[in-house]
Amino acid sequence: MNHVKTFEVEALRKDFPILARTVHGKPLVYLDNGASAQKPRCMIDAIRHVYEQEYANVHRAAHELSAACTDKFEAARRTVQRFLNAPEDREVIFVRGTTEAINLVAQTWGRANVKAGDEILITAMEHHSNIVPWQMLCEASGARLVVAPMDDTGTLMLPEFEKRLSPRTKLLACVHVSNALGTVNPIEWMAQKAHAVGALVMVDGAQAAPHQRIDVQKLGVDFYAFSGHKAFGPTGIGALWGRAELLEAMPPWQGGGEMIKSVKFEQTTYNVIPHKFEAGTPNIADTIGLGASLEYLMGIGLDAIEAYEHELLAYATAKLGEIPGLRIVGTSQNKAGVISFVLDGIHSADAGMILDEQGIAVRVGQHCAEPVMDFFKLHGTIRASFAFYNTMHEADALAAGIRKVQELFK
Ligand code: PLP
Repeated sequence: MNHVKTFEVEALRKDFPILARTVHGKPLVYLDNGASAQKPRCMIDAIRHVYEQEYANVHRAAHELSAACTDKFEAARRTVQRFLNAPEDREVIFVRGTTEAINLVAQTWGRANVKAGDEILITAMEHHSNIVPWQMLCEASGARLVVAPMDDTGTLMLPEFEKRLSPRTKLLACVHVSNALGTVNPIEWMAQKAHAVGALVMVDGAQAAPHQRIDVQKLGVDFYAFSGHKAFGPTGIGALWGRAELLEAMPPWQGGGEMIKSVKFEQTTYNVIPHKFEAGTPNIADTIGLGASLEYLMGIGLDAIEAYEHELLAYATAKLGEIPGLRIVGTSQNKAGVISFVLDGIHSADAGMILDEQGIAVRVGQHCAEPVMDFFKLHGTIRASFAFYNTMHEADALAAGIRKVQELFK
């Protein structure tokens, strides 16, 4: 716990220019990190430097600027490799984000490998982006989507999960950390069980990668996806990691430049991975920016970040737990820094607006997880989602803000 005590949150906050601003005349308390996280100066500088000093297209031209930009672009791929502890950098595919990564796997691996009668297993706590691509695949292939249930605390019911695995299961597609509830799923155990019936495992790491050390080899999964913008990086860039032999065997997705070796009108041959899956000019500057953000995170240390956020979650949960008329939705034993809650007699949208007037940014609504809201019979929740730059003082401000909301509705 020593590293938690020495976690220099005030110094780290200074790395994020936006955290110094006010909103409606109040200091910004940014608790909407689950939707998108704020950006460190080093990332902003990295992007500015590319555009001011090194910008050109990558992989193609023979000139100095293109060579410099290509080096940085490919260095970012190696950064993602280290960030995920992936065996090889060619296993890292740059995509727009988690949504695109999941769609890529569904449309390439899925279309090549999933047939009528097969099953795709997901959980009851998925984000829409880990439901709809599989529904689309099932519609096209005649396969069946199977859902492993959760209990009233928002914890996956492990015996029920096991019962839904069978030789028909071709893929387990599962969220690592639930964006709506904060539940952390036991991915390593789940992957072992899924592999035992011959299924592959794809993990939606959108809410996990920014908050804990990810080791795809230790997790023992086959595909892992995350979004740059939730990991303090730019929007419009993220990564899909997949085991090389799977990626090599998968058909390409989008066709165009870069993803080919040779094009003849009669026949085209495809490039090697990762380029086979990166058709067209990529998001060059943002990829380099993502590399800068991930280097920054690894510099702080993901273990220290996780431990600090754990303390912060425990503190904020206790503070909010003292408020009469507030009910936390998602009370799993194993949670990451998300607190979803409802207030008796107060619509979450009204609460969100009044909190905003106090400079407190939270998200309200269904959090792109309508089945989770249906399960808890709610229209929506108020969600505070934390990052390592949030403080205990901000958790106090949230609690005070909520009491003010309640006062106004008395
Ligand atoms: N999965 C989870 C758990 C999420 O929280 C999100 C975004 O909120 C996504 C997937 C989709 O991420 P993106 O919109 O960056 O593609």
